Amino acid sequence: MPDENVNAGNRAPDCDVVVVGAGFAGIYALWTARKRGYSVRGFEAGSDVGGTWYWNAYPGARCDVDSYSYAYFFDNEVVRDWDWSDICARQPEIQNYLSFVADRCDVKPLITFDTRVTASTYDESAGLWTVSTSGGEEVVCRYLVLAVGALSEPKAPDIEGVDDFQGEKYFTSMWPKDREVDLSGKRVGVIGTGSSGVQAIPEIAKVASEVVVFQRTANFVMPTCGGPMDPDHVAMLREDPQAIREGMRANYGGTRPIAMGPRFAELDEAGREKALQEAWDGGYMMTAFYDAHLPEANEAISEFVRKRMHEQVEDPWTANQIVPWDHPYGGKRPCMSDVYLQTYNQPHVRLVALKETPIERITVDGITTSAEHVPLDVIVFATGFDALTGPVRSMNIKGIGGAVMADVWADGPVNYLGTMVHGFPNLFLPSSAMSPSVLSNMATLAEQQVDFVFDTVDELERRQASGCIRSMNRRSSGPRKPCATPSACRGH
Ligand code: FAD
Repeated sequence: MPDENVNAGNRAPDCDVVVVGAGFAGIYALWTARKRGYSVRGFEAGSDVGGTWYWNAYPGARCDVDSYSYAYFFDNEVVRDWDWSDICARQPEIQNYLSFVADRCDVKPLITFDTRVTASTYDESAGLWTVSTSGGEEVVCRYLVLAVGALSEPKAPDIEGVDDFQGEKYFTSMWPKDREVDLSGKRVGVIGTGSSGVQAIPEIAKVASEVVVFQRTANFVMPTCGGPMDPDHVAMLREDPQAIREGMRANYGGTRPIAMGPRFAELDEAGREKALQEAWDGGYMMTAFYDAHLPEANEAISEFVRKRMHEQVEDPWTANQIVPWDHPYGGKRPCMSDVYLQTYNQPHVRLVALKETPIERITVDGITTSAEHVPLDVIVFATGFDALTGPVRSMNIKGIGGAVMADVWADGPVNYLGTMVHGFPNLFLPSSAMSPSVLSNMATLAEQQVDFVFDTVDELERRQASGCIRSMNRRSSGPRKPCATPSACRGH
């Protein structure tokens, strides 16, 4: 393989900042860079903005954080001019929202779409990054923001014969956007029962003639608590978006403060049952019990959820398989759906438990397990992502002394505050490994991390200007022109 890494040499920078990725973090990073007076370019592998919500266009895809929390708050106009229809918005609505914000901020013209960044090399003597793209471009910049997401590198299924299958194959993480996928009347196999599988399976079952779900690990599945927006609530949110934003940032989950449940240990038997039922009905999250992490409360919560799940599935064997016995509630992010469990009560839907009967191989016409051959017209892979580090490791990033990021992270990611990596100066990761990322509402996190990144960049600039640190090459030394709002920034 030819070495794609290119050194800046004596080249002057083409721009101050390059932002890779155009999801929640990338859109906001492009806007912030320009607002703070930096010249900036963006690169995005997809054909449009949206990131996660561009790629994961599978049927049933939706967020599991309420829509007015899973949104930007950096600009009051943006908050007030967008109407969410559902408490937990579906993929098309979130994708449209991100496109709306990108248009409002006028950042789309800054982005080169359908273009993957393949390599980035730091030139120590010049203090510059050279970014190489799949389009053959080499862009020299001073700061590199890798807004490449935590869940953007699909995980290739490690199953023998996967390329032999002659039917249709789809990945939830790369659902086709150029055409309707018609599964009506087809025999569909779905591999994977994480969040994407749980959302997609009920929709697929609406049209397919037969659905066979191949489950490796059972997960907790909770009600979504979705539904139409309450107009009074929306009006309240729009009154003072900045106050809401501060509240979300102060909350560990990055959402508007959630109603907390009682302290479980202090309740009697009847009080516990009542509190658990209230939480299940949407009064608060199960993890909102003050002592949800302690064994006594956690075991009771886990048992309660298992029971509620079990009673929704009619077939006893399926119910036993679908309930997670092997991990406690909250040990993994629970999946959310109001219709997933009942889907198995339909005669044309069945589960294959891979812990009992593992897949041996995929063949030309279906999937063979240790117990049977399942003939299929379509396989849907809901097999998830090479999470967190995958999108960074897939680029050839070389820092000081030619150190390769993938090698530096060979034994696991190392970084400062989840955002900067020693030996890779002026490179920032707003939503990568060891940032609060998936532990929090990632929309809030994107704003917070990007603000932190550009506060750091501003500080570096200040120190360079005052001679505190060595000056780096600049494209222009003219005065910076900060703009206050997205509209003021347009065309700047
Ligand atoms: P992304 O949205 O992943 O965007 C990264 C972009 O970078 C992608 O468009 C990708 O194409 C691009 N990219 C990557 N590498 C390159 C490269 N080398 N060159 C060019 N472009 C590149 N989080 C929540 O908080 N709440 C939820 O309810 C929720 N639901 C989710 C549902 C699904 C199905 C999935 C997959 C994730 C969900 N998440 C949720 C997590 C979600 O990823 C984040 O909320 C958020 O969208 C991440 O935004 P981002 O900008 O950091 O990254």
